Amino acid sequence: MPELPEVETVRRTLETHVRGRAFVGVTLDWPGCEGISHGIPLQDSLPGSRCIDVGRRGKYLLLRLDRGRTLVIHLRMTGQLLVVGADAPPPRYRRAMLTMDDGKAIAFCDQRKFGRITLVPSRSSLEQVLRRLGPEPEMLKNDRGDGFSASYLAARLSGRRAAVKAVLLDQRVLAGLGNIYVDEVLFAAGVHPATPSRLVDGTAVVRITEAVVAVLADAVANGGTTLADYRDADGVPGTHQSRLLVFRRHGHPCPRCGATIERSVVAQRGTHACPSCQPRAGL
Ligand SMILES: [Zn+2]
Repeated sequence: MPELPEVETVRRTLETHVRGRAFVGVTLDWPGCEGISHGIPLQDSLPGSRCIDVGRRGKYLLLRLDRGRTLVIHLRMTGQLLVVGADAPPPRYRRAMLTMDDGKAIAFCDQRKFGRITLVPSRSSLEQVLRRLGPEPEMLKNDRGDGFSASYLAARLSGRRAAVKAVLLDQRVLAGLGNIYVDEVLFAAGVHPATPSRLVDGTAVVRITEAVVAVLADAVANGGTTLADYRDADGVPGTHQSRLLVFRRHGHPCPRCGATIERSVVAQRGTHACPSCQPRAGL
C-alpha cells in the first residue's frame, strides 16, 4: 500500500505533467472509483478546470484546480496514476482516465478497486475531507530545523495501553505512515512494535521521533518502496525496497546484530522486528 514516500513520489512526478494543464474529458471505466462524499460529479464538472499545482496531505494527493476546486485522490491498496498518451491502449486495470489539453491523460489504474478520486468543490469541503488527519511527520522537526521536537509524540503515547505501532499507524496521530515504514522506524529506534505506548520512555520517544523523519526522508530520496504494484506517474518503480532493514525480512539476520528477524501480528498487521535490538519491554 502506498505510504507517504510513495504518494510524495507520485506527487512530484505527476506535477511535472499536470501543472498548468486543463482537463478536457473524463472516462469512467469503473464508476465506483469516484468518491461521492463531499464531491461533485467528475464527468460534468472536471472538464474546463485547470491544475494550479499538485500537493499532498498524508496519503492524499491534492490536485489544486482553479475556482477553489481540488481533485482529491487516495490510492489505497493498489491504486496507480500513470501519465499516458490519451490515444494509447488503456493500461491494465484502468478505472478512469482524465484527459488533458496537451493530448496526454492521467490513467487511474487499481487492481483491488479501493482507491478513490473525488472532485471537491470548495476549500471548506476539502477541510471536511481532511479534518481527521494528524500533522505531517515533517512537523516533528523543531522550529529551527536543527533538531526534533519529541513532545508531540510523547503526549500522544502517554498513558495509552495500545501498542506503539498501533498509535503510529493512526492517521489522526501522524498523517502518512503505514505498515512498512512503522516497522522500519521502530527498528531504527530500537523499540518493539508491541510495546504498550505508555511504557515507551522519554529517550525512546526521542529516537522514534528522529527515526520517523529520517526513515521517510530516505524513502522519498529513493523514490519509495515497490513490493508489487506501486509505480510513480512515469511508471517507474521505487528503489527503497533494497534498503528495508526488517520489513518482510523475517528469517533473515538482523543487519545490526545478526539475530534472526521475527514476524508477529501487532495492530492486526504483519510486523517485523529484531528480538535482540528491539526488546519486548513490559510484555
Ligand atoms: Zn538486531
